[in-house]
Amino acid sequence: MTLLDGKTGLVCGVANRRSIAWAIAQALAGAGMRLAFTYQGDRLKENVEELAATLPDARLYPCDVTSDEDIGAVFQAADRDLGRLDALVHSIAFARREDLEGEFVATDRDGFRVAHDVSAYSLVALTRAAVPLMERAGGGAVLAMTYYGAEKVAAGYNVMGVAKASLEASVRYLAADLGPRGIRVNALSAGPVNTLAARGIRGFTGMLKHHAEKAPLRRNVELREIGDAGLFLLSPMGSGITGEVLHVDCGYHVMAV
Ligand code: NAD
Repeated sequence: MTLLDGKTGLVCGVANRRSIAWAIAQALAGAGMRLAFTYQGDRLKENVEELAATLPDARLYPCDVTSDEDIGAVFQAADRDLGRLDALVHSIAFARREDLEGEFVATDRDGFRVAHDVSAYSLVALTRAAVPLMERAGGGAVLAMTYYGAEKVAAGYNVMGVAKASLEASVRYLAADLGPRGIRVNALSAGPVNTLAARGIRGFTGMLKHHAEKAPLRRNVELREIGDAGLFLLSPMGSGITGEVLHVDCGYHVMAV
């Protein structure tokens, strides 16, 4: 008997084996949770299929989070395949490349909208769709991924920092709404990790070096450590915690000068 035997989870945001979502999925599966995955489109299907095939009985659904139709279809399929949901992982973000270059002040209406729609509103839409299945499980837990650029200005992070601030506020409002129904909502604020999404950020290599030099632990966080923190918050070990943003960043955020 392991910690999450008999529990089910939906993981949104695996692109490849470097994805934070995959690190969390491995930790959850290792503790006995049965998983389903969404993938963004045909371009990523094969990658996610290959990874999911390494887990017992994993399901796969296509989902572009800008489509309400896609989101509806995912939860219909999850209802049929899993029948209940104990955990939801939201590990999704996007901003146009031109909005991650230059100055934040140059962000136009559409760039601002796209970043917020994909990176913040999608948490609200996915969580709302998950509620009936979580209620059937007698409660559940939702986990989103954020970054320190929501709290302080990180050069080059621009509109993504503003979208992450919206995501973190959404975590608190969702936690307040859904707590009475036994559903917890939290976020991990991860230090920089070299993933597909991170490569879109100008000066990312410099950011990795700066974090490693300044963080109290004098290194960057490992994917496995983010996975373990995700497991903690999504499992009964985190049962008293909701509306929280937990930093998994080797302590970087406590430093001033
Ligand atoms: P990643 O590229 O592996 O994952 C990003 C995912 O977002 C991909 O799977 C992509 O398909 C998905 N996505 C983008 N637009 C989508 C859409 N319209 N519909 C559905 N899915 C969509 O990169 P990652 O670094 O693992 O990012 C996962 C999360 O972690 C993001 O929220 C990111 O902001 C956050 N985060 C990353 C870092 C880092 O340094 N890598 C640090 C802190 C937080």
